[in-house]
Amino acid sequence: MLEVAQPIKNLVPYVTGKPIEETKREYGIKKVIKLASNENPLGASAKVKLAVKKAINEIHLYPDGACYDLKQAYAKTFRLKPENLVFGNGSDELMGLILQAYCQPGDFVVMFDLSFVAFKIHAQARCLNVHEIKLKDGFEYDMDALISFVENQWTPKHKVIYLPNPNNPTGVYVRKNDLDRLIKAVQARKDVLLVLDDAYMEFARAKDYAVASDYLSSTPNLLVLRTMSKAYGLGGLRVGILIGDGKVVEPINKVRVPFNLSNLAQVAAVAALKDQNHVKKSVKVAWQGIDFLYKELKKMDLPVWKSQGNFVLFDVKRPTGPVFESLLKKGLIVRPLKNYGLPTIIRLSSGTMAENRFALKMLKKVLSE
Ligand SMILES: *Cc1c(COP(=O)(O)O)cnc(C)c1O
Repeated sequence: MLEVAQPIKNLVPYVTGKPIEETKREYGIKKVIKLASNENPLGASAKVKLAVKKAINEIHLYPDGACYDLKQAYAKTFRLKPENLVFGNGSDELMGLILQAYCQPGDFVVMFDLSFVAFKIHAQARCLNVHEIKLKDGFEYDMDALISFVENQWTPKHKVIYLPNPNNPTGVYVRKNDLDRLIKAVQARKDVLLVLDDAYMEFARAKDYAVASDYLSSTPNLLVLRTMSKAYGLGGLRVGILIGDGKVVEPINKVRVPFNLSNLAQVAAVAALKDQNHVKKSVKVAWQGIDFLYKELKKMDLPVWKSQGNFVLFDVKRPTGPVFESLLKKGLIVRPLKNYGLPTIIRLSSGTMAENRFALKMLKKVLSE
């Protein structure tokens, strides 16, 4: 047998949220609630469902590889230029494409500890080194340390900074003042590509949160990632967005497979963009849920982190493995963060209020068993 390539041999794959059907099958239960992947508990907009139904007769045709309609609709919705957009099969795919276009084996990618792990996995799979910068207390980003790294320790092998804002799983965000400083440091160098991942931008409600796209016109070496998997409720259809300078996104388009977005995904995304009310409603539901979960988890005397995303983190002060198992048996899927090196911490996505209440009830039961 041919030997597996070295970086793949040791690669720890991404841990996804446990699927609902799998849980039903394994535990022989009928009702399962999944609050493990930060999905939209309201589902997709009714307009999206209608558009997908209408498009069903076209599924024998290859999709538009250029995503023309979607590009136009997205550019119009956010006042961007169509030539600055690339769509991906989720932003996950785009992460890999960025690295493929800009890094060679042995190069370095820089990020904070506990950054969304998908980017790190893409880097490792491509024989890249990952330099992780330590966090401050409370999982806070240490922007001084990152800026100092860029200014003093950057070498010709260092290529990309990946910065999710807000981050998953920690829920922390970058204060505008800090983002301004980082952008300035990055603008001063031609050999740095900054990737800001705004996957949860719709949910961020801190007064000093700034969206990454505001910096695009002044910062050609900035790439912005967004997704329609969270606030737009299209996780299952896979629509990620990359925004950047035309010259910077061009090589990414080169390495992209021609038909990376299905026609249903494209049609759904266009319809979802047109229903901004659904997005607003979804964000409101998430905020209500987070506030409720935060308050109730505090009452249970569990250390809890209020996040700028649509999820909360809390510490069950014991190994999460058995807690996770017991919750599954009761029909609740949560996300233990052992793979991030946090063996006692659980991430819980905000669901509908009924789902949130169910989650707390089951958690109380399991923790008192
Ligand atoms: C969920 C998530 C994404 C989006 O992934 P998709 O591939 O677009 O579904 C990207 N970044 C972060 C930080 C996320 O949590």
